Order: sequence, then C-alpha cells, then structure tokens
Amino acid sequence: MSITKDNVSRRNVLKIAVPTAIGSLLGVPVLSSANQQNKTEPRQKLKIIVFGAHPDDPETGCGGTMALLANEGHEVISAYLTRGEAGIKGVAYDEAAKIRTAEALEACEILNAKPRFLGQIDGNCEVTKEHYKAISDFFEEEKPDIVFNHWPIDRHRDHRACSILVYDAWYNLGQKSVMYYYEVMSGRQSQNFKPTDYVDITPVIDQKHKACYEHKSQEPEKWYQESHGQMEIFRGLEYRTQYAEAFVRHVQSPSSLII
Ligand SMILES: [Zn+2]
Repeated sequence: MSITKDNVSRRNVLKIAVPTAIGSLLGVPVLSSANQQNKTEPRQKLKIIVFGAHPDDPETGCGGTMALLANEGHEVISAYLTRGEAGIKGVAYDEAAKIRTAEALEACEILNAKPRFLGQIDGNCEVTKEHYKAISDFFEEEKPDIVFNHWPIDRHRDHRACSILVYDAWYNLGQKSVMYYYEVMSGRQSQNFKPTDYVDITPVIDQKHKACYEHKSQEPEKWYQESHGQMEIFRGLEYRTQYAEAFVRHVQSPSSLII
C-alpha cells in the first residue's frame, strides 16, 4: 500500500486488512486467503516478531493475526520481555516465572509461534542503554520483515518500556521492517488507540481463545470476555465482520501523507 491523499481517507483505510497492506508494501501478495487452519508454504516466507512485555500480551493483543500468519506458513516469533515474574499473587518470582513460561509455551504451540524470552523482569522493565542494545541485537539477529509492538500510550509501565525499546531498535536500524502497534485491554491499559488497519480473525477465533486461555494463572475466565472479547467484537463491528483485531501502522515519514 502506498499512502497518498487519495487512499488515506478513513473509509479506505478501514477496508485495508493488515495482510493485504503488508503484502503490497513488500511487493508480494502475502496472504490471499488468510483463513486456513493447516500450515501451508507461502509464496514468500516472512519472519514476523510480536513483542510483548509479559506472557499473554502478544496472544491477547494479536493472537488471531499471529495464527493467521503462522497458519499461512510464515515464521511467527512471540518475543516476551519478561516471564511474568510478578504476575501471580503470593507466588515467588522464580516459581511464577516457571508457571508462566510453561503457559506461554503452550499458547505458542497452539498459535504455531516460536517463543523467545528477553530477560527483563515483570513490573520492573527498564529502558537503559544496555536494554536498548539488547533489543537492537535481537533485531539484527532475527531480521524481521514485520514487527508487532505494544502501543506506547498504555497505563502499564512495562508495556510502555517495551514499546519504546522496540521502536528505538526499529528506527535506528533503518526501519527495514513494517511495524504495527497493537492494543491490549483498551480503555484500561491502551489509551487513545485509533486503528489504521484491521484483520478479520473470525476464522481463527477459537484458536486465539484457546491460546489465551492457556494462561491459566491469569484466570482469563474472570476478565477475558469483558476486555479482549468485547474488543474483538467491537473491532469486528468497525470492520464489518464478526471478530477483528485492530492495529496502528507506523508511518515514519508523515509528510508522505500529503503527497
Ligand atoms: Zn502485559
């Protein structure tokens, strides 16, 4: 998708699904039919990295899109900044990390994604010179084609830290990948999120939910439906489908919008 004054109207943007936009940007039709449950070999295999501060952030924010891309045969990496050490009340960090790592592995198995853990600590994610370098090194090692990142305006400090670390690496390494931001618990966590792109996740909604509910320690039965479940339906209404996930595409040079 090349952005011009003609195609940047809200209505046009709403009709552009993420895979289509990504395919156009890379000059290849990446996902012509993104609704297969069985893995197939795509014409051009892409590497996608979904960064999240905690186990369950990638899955809840864009698990449907991850499943669609992985089901199409693309390589999807779920990169967790932490192992959720602070995420189980009354449980020591080491033990919680073990439990939540195991849950993330199960969730990734369901989504056909590869888990990676990047060594920060839940509740204490830091934006330091060393951590900028660590994420930058990870980018250089993996060389992603597409990156999904936390939306930076978020009430959770770890989400904000993750977003800014990933943005820094992406920007300083020359913006070689296409970057999208995803939302989590909009209203409670993500704020001021105005999507530019949508993905119809209806064909994989059960796969996504199964992955999200693998995070049993987080008791998703108590909150998933009223937060992410409603978001999937609301974004589906906006996109005129049953369930959708929504994204903001990062355009590094806004001046191109008015060419
Ligand atoms: Zn989180």
